[in-house]
Amino acid sequence: MLLITCPHCGPRDESEFSCGGEAHIARPLAENSLSDAEFADYLFLRDNPKGLFLERWRHAAGCRRWFNMARDTVTHEIVEIYAIGSGPSSKAGMTAHAASWRRDTAAEAAAKPPRKARAKKDKAS
Ligand SMILES: [Zn+2]
Repeated sequence: MLLITCPHCGPRDESEFSCGGEAHIARPLAENSLSDAEFADYLFLRDNPKGLFLERWRHAAGCRRWFNMARDTVTHEIVEIYAIGSGPSSKAGMTAHAASWRRDTAAEAAAKPPRKARAKKDKAS
C-alpha cells in the first residue's frame, strides 16, 4: 500500500486515489492530417515502462483534484508529485519526460526526424 501525499490534502492512503494513466500526452495539433492508425496510436496506446513513469492521479475520495506523479513502477518509489499543467522538476522526472515521443507537440515533432528514423538511430547508438 502506498502513502501518497496529495498536494492539497497531505499524506493519505493509496485507496483514496485513482490513477488516470500516463501524464503529459500532447494532443496532435494537425489531427485532421493523421492517418487512422496514427490517431488510434495517440488515443489508445500508452507507454508501460519498467522504471520511472509519469502518471496522472486523482484524489477521488478526498478533494477530487488531479495531480501528476513520477513513480517507479518496479519499486513503487514516489520520486515527485507535482501540479497538473507543470512538468517534473527532478532530474529523473525530466529524463522520463524527455524519453517519450508522446510528449511532443506537433511543432516539436515536426522539427525532429520521423519516428522510424529516430528508432533506427537509437538502436544504432
Ligand atoms: Zn486531496
